[in-house]
Amino acid sequence: MASSVFLPHNHQHCVQDALRQADTYCEEQGVRLTPLRRRVLELIWEEHKPIGAYDLLARIASEGFNSAPPTVYRTLDFFIQHGLIHKVESLNAYIGCNHEQGSHTSVFFICQNCGVTEELQNPAIEGQLALQAAGMGFQINHPTLEIKGLCKACRHA
Ligand SMILES: [Zn+2]
Ligand SMILES: [Zn+2]
Ligand SMILES: [Zn+2]
Repeated sequence: MASSVFLPHNHQHCVQDALRQADTYCEEQGVRLTPLRRRVLELIWEEHKPIGAYDLLARIASEGFNSAPPTVYRTLDFFIQHGLIHKVESLNAYIGCNHEQGSHTSVFFICQNCGVTEELQNPAIEGQLALQAAGMGFQINHPTLEIKGLCKACRHA
């Protein structure tokens, strides 16, 4: 795993790791990673860029899968529920998560030029938010931070 998705790395490893993790997870949970689910996950991991449902539908359809929108939306819901992907709200698109399973605060750095997005793993941020919320009597339900900026490649372009 590269130290950052913004830096050059062997992306095949990211894809393989993600699929392996999903396989293990589904086996442990006793849920099936059907060919459609597996392909959707693969497409989401194809790049470190959130992909929209319409793009996914088009890809899936062109490959001869049952591409009825409800089927694909159910698949996306399944992955979100199981924490294998997240929805990036500001882009209305989906991105894979390779964090240890379990709920966590999603902090995204999103390149507003090329769309490459990295999810940070930073328990300190999570702790700070939880502390702040507790102090204000606020209950966090959907802990997501989406931070826009420019990745290294785009800054130098
Ligand atoms: Zn990668
Ligand atoms: Zn995550
Ligand atoms: Zn960029």
